[in-house]
Amino acid sequence: MGPMPTYAYRCRECTETFELSRPMSESSAPATCPAGHADTVKLLTTVALTGAATGGGPAPAPSGGGGCCGGGCCG
Ligand SMILES: [Zn+2]
Repeated sequence: MGPMPTYAYRCRECTETFELSRPMSESSAPATCPAGHADTVKLLTTVALTGAATGGGPAPAPSGGGGCCGGGCCG
């Protein structure tokens, strides 16, 4: 299959943060910390993919920006 994403977890017993590469289908499966503790929590991770961070439309012009020419309405 393809490359597996990496998920970060934190152990609540030794406060160790560690990462695991596992299939996306197992992202919420229990993870064991390197020290063997099972009390871990999954951290929010920033997946290194080309994210679609745009809102999908032109942002509204900021009001009170000090003039009309900033928003293109003078054109
Ligand atoms: Zn631990």
